[in-house]
Amino acid sequence: MTGGVASSLGKGIISASIGKLLQARGYSVTIQKLDPYLNVDPGTLNPYEHGECYVTGDGAETDLDLGHYERFLNIQTSQENNVTTGRIYKSVIEKERKGDYLGKTVQIIPHITDEIKRRIKILGNKGDFDFVITEIGGTVGDIESLPYIESVRQLKWEMEGRCLYVHLTLVPYLSASGELKTKPTQHSVKQLLEAGIQPDILVLRTEHSLSHDLKKKVGLFCNVDINAVIESKDVSTIYEVPLLMQEEKLDEIILKKYKLEIGEMPSLKPWKSFLKKLKNPKQTVTIGLIGKYVELPDAYKSIIESFIHAGSEKECLVDLKLIHSESIEKDNYTTLLKNLNGILVAPGFGHRGIDGKLLAAQYARENNVPFLGICLGMQIAVIEFARNVLHMKDANSREIHSTTTHPVIDIMEEQKGVTEKGGTMRLGEYPCTLEKDTKIHSIYKSEKINERHRHRYEFNNEYLDVFHKNGMLTSGINPDTELVEIIELSNHRWFIGVQFHPEYKSTVLNPHPLFVNFVQAAIDFKHA
Ligand code: GLN
Repeated sequence: MTGGVASSLGKGIISASIGKLLQARGYSVTIQKLDPYLNVDPGTLNPYEHGECYVTGDGAETDLDLGHYERFLNIQTSQENNVTTGRIYKSVIEKERKGDYLGKTVQIIPHITDEIKRRIKILGNKGDFDFVITEIGGTVGDIESLPYIESVRQLKWEMEGRCLYVHLTLVPYLSASGELKTKPTQHSVKQLLEAGIQPDILVLRTEHSLSHDLKKKVGLFCNVDINAVIESKDVSTIYEVPLLMQEEKLDEIILKKYKLEIGEMPSLKPWKSFLKKLKNPKQTVTIGLIGKYVELPDAYKSIIESFIHAGSEKECLVDLKLIHSESIEKDNYTTLLKNLNGILVAPGFGHRGIDGKLLAAQYARENNVPFLGICLGMQIAVIEFARNVLHMKDANSREIHSTTTHPVIDIMEEQKGVTEKGGTMRLGEYPCTLEKDTKIHSIYKSEKINERHRHRYEFNNEYLDVFHKNGMLTSGINPDTELVEIIELSNHRWFIGVQFHPEYKSTVLNPHPLFVNFVQAAIDFKHA
């Protein structure tokens, strides 16, 4: 899957939709993203650069498109599903240093391209999948993506008919003349042809329906069969795209090209019922998401999507208000937060915006407003409780104030000697044991859960007793390390903080119970 004309056309969503449709026909599918930048992984990227860093179960810090793959396909992705140019070069250079190339000159072709091909084939070689969809990030024509384009050109020859190219472009609408324009698509395909790639299927993003004649013209100039020129019209939710692609018979065209039997069109019943509930909400709740990257909602992609899943489950429109933590101050916080039916304090790093987050947690605690704190959000709830209930005036996290007299959140033992930044946090899935007769136990309805992590700091267990005595329970604990995974307030209608990231595990077909229950708590609070 390549993209042309413009970035952000939704290659990830089209890939996920193709995956969904093939999966619905009984095939096992996984999706991989190749990112053409030099960071080894997006873990070191500021969210302003590239949106949220998604974390897989096996602890890879990845591009946010992997979140879409998991949410659409209800599958788990892994380290192998996201590869960057940085990682490719790193492994080639490491091999060179070990002497693996036996005196040869190490070059982009064949060494970098061979490494790219190896990474593309890893998932297929495992034998678990009928289809591997490989999405090449960026836009065709970028200098950075050339080695990837060359690699997939070679792969088609090597794989003898078991490989096809889908190219996504934009057909812009010129409102002044009222016309849809195909030239950018023609140019983009020409660029692919120069690199030796003839797209098999073209998906055209458009604001308006494409006429038969327009498709015919695109097909003619791009050497693509008109049936394989697919329209992808703008829709109100990304979750409609698989249905749209099914109407366009994109999956049938793919199967036909692979000479596979087409069979019956899958009904996609559970997906349709999710969409129906999503589009016909019976009520609305307003939830505040307090974070410091709210100018760029992609920074909170998985949280936003989790609320969409939970909202559909509860047939409730979640009106998510993104509130900048730096805008929350002592003299405005009660007015700013008063119309919310629930408050979520977001994950994050560093001290910027901390005071506003503390005020939001305090407001939720004191006014019995449903509260969910995720990762840093949970740590904030602990600090706020220590300061305002336990009267530890300078209580803090060592991340924010390293010499505080009350480090209620402290650096994890295993993190103390860590100086390298990339991939060194506590990452991925860890088990957690839930205390019986707690709110969290009633939500998960299970004693053992597994959730994904991304942090360096933790609840300081030296303070356990004083927190417990004053009403903050630690209701989820890592059974191996005693690390506090969950806190909750006993005398509050719904106040929960989690050290892990539930948002990474919510999918369309399995909305996360914590989000579903939080939305229900917001509904109840609204009517209380
Ligand atoms: N900065 C905090 C830590 O490292 C929280 C991280 C997060 O919210 N993901 O522990």
